[in-house]
Amino acid sequence: MLTVNEIFYSIQGEATRAGEPCVFVRLTACDLRCSWCDTEYAFYEGRKRSVADVVAEVVQHQCRLVEITGGEPLIQEDVYPLMSELLDRGYTVMLETGGHRSIARVPDAVVKIVDVKCPGSGEAGKNHWENLSALGPRDEVKFVIKDRADYDYARDVIVRHGLAGRAAAILLSPVHGVLEPRLLSEWILQDHLPVRLQLQVHKFIWPAAMRGV
Ligand code: SF4
Repeated sequence: MLTVNEIFYSIQGEATRAGEPCVFVRLTACDLRCSWCDTEYAFYEGRKRSVADVVAEVVQHQCRLVEITGGEPLIQEDVYPLMSELLDRGYTVMLETGGHRSIARVPDAVVKIVDVKCPGSGEAGKNHWENLSALGPRDEVKFVIKDRADYDYARDVIVRHGLAGRAAAILLSPVHGVLEPRLLSEWILQDHLPVRLQLQVHKFIWPAAMRGV
């Protein structure tokens, strides 16, 4: 069984699939408390559902791109049969994870979007660094940037771990409403950093706090 916060069909707002229609499966619970978290409602709210029930609802949305997110989706053991079932049915499956839990058991075919938590999140001490060695060519790394200190931290991690060229994309995303995208863009350009600026598209389409989009 899975504890599911919500399932909805919307526009993918993040990563290199931004702008594409996507079905989101948001699982309940997270063992981090990032200072800028925008899905705190997923910490506790949810109801028990079988993997088959979740897959049946995904099928109803008639969309071949599915993202499993949270909360932290890797907390629940049944996320593994859910990923396998969706892959077996030919879906493109994305997984958004906080980066503090091992991705070693996630199937290679799943597109993993793996966070590296920066100091501004308050959770940088929890990064599971082995994940960076486990990244495949279709996977992406994401840094959420709150301020200049976070940017400097991200830049150092990118260089120290040789991330350029080892993942499909390195995403730098300013905390919405906190760090001006223009400022982050200027820092990236000044350093010739081999990254992709990420703005959360859904927050420009719908109200930033709106759920189910
Ligand atoms: S890992 Fe994600 S869901 Fe968990 S607290 Fe951080 S931002 Fe929120």
